[in-house]
Amino acid sequence: MRAWSVVRPGPVEEGSLRWTEKPVPVPGDDELLVRVRACGVCRTDLHVTEGDLPVRRVGVTPGHEVVGVVAGAGAAASGFSAGDRVGVAWLRRTDGSCAYCARGSENLCPSSRYTGWDADGGYAEYTTVPASFAHRLPRGVDDVALAPLMCAGIIGYRALRRAALPPGGRLGLYGFGGSAHLCAQIALAEGATVHVMTRAAPARRLALELGAASAQDAYALPPEPLDSAILFAPAGELVPVALRALDRGGTLAIAGIHLSDIPPLHYESELFYEKQVRSVTSSTREDGRAFLALAARHGVHATTRPYPLSRAAQALADLKAGGLEGGTVLVNDNAF
Ligand SMILES: [Zn+2]
Ligand SMILES: [Zn+2]
Repeated sequence: MRAWSVVRPGPVEEGSLRWTEKPVPVPGDDELLVRVRACGVCRTDLHVTEGDLPVRRVGVTPGHEVVGVVAGAGAAASGFSAGDRVGVAWLRRTDGSCAYCARGSENLCPSSRYTGWDADGGYAEYTTVPASFAHRLPRGVDDVALAPLMCAGIIGYRALRRAALPPGGRLGLYGFGGSAHLCAQIALAEGATVHVMTRAAPARRLALELGAASAQDAYALPPEPLDSAILFAPAGELVPVALRALDRGGTLAIAGIHLSDIPPLHYESELFYEKQVRSVTSSTREDGRAFLALAARHGVHATTRPYPLSRAAQALADLKAGGLEGGTVLVNDNAF
């Protein structure tokens, strides 16, 4: 099969990600073989390709926003049949036995393994997934539109829950890319008032089109105090900005994997009155199930930009060059 491989981590424009031949993977005992139809492009794929994340598998195939069809299964894989459409997300395996797994926090499992980092992912014609970590997908939504939901969507949903937004509450979103624009749709459908703070004018326009009550620059104060805020931009300097925008008792959730340093906080204006700051780490299978069900019910729609699978390196380079906030999807034209 054709598959992209990280031959040697480095700048993507210097050929670190190469279009190669690999054998079609053999699913493990509890795994499904999946024929990839579409795979979203996430910024984490760039971190894997460029070596910002350490190498966990030599020559790894990136990609963890996979929509595909079951094409085979190991002897112990259950719950799916050949031809079923499935989604493959970032969290690939956990030990299922540690204290975190036992209390429903499998996203914190120290033994967790990830798609497109520890194991080959979806920048290929085929991939594999443990059957118990494969997601059932809603009918009536096409493959390309579903792909960005598998990471950007699920993470945005977890961030929204971590932000502890009260019913009908006032939510501020800092940064408005792939994850935030999906999160906003869930929050709006659930009755929130949403304010968006981002420096990108096209993103501010999209926010207002989707139903945000206001959209302003990243450093501007929203027109009313916030019950909750989510920081999607990887900019630590926005932490005090968002904290000042919170009402008493408000919660700020930080959604990114990476964040630049947070400047010193001013206790009186930024933390006192029981304001809270929380991080968001990966997501659980239950987050995925809950989010995909809500997305189907509310018609959550991802803005997408398709590329042929054979142009994945260009898609990543374009993502790196900026201006393209989320929604890039690789389409395997041979899969239809
Ligand atoms: Zn991702
Ligand atoms: Zn565990």
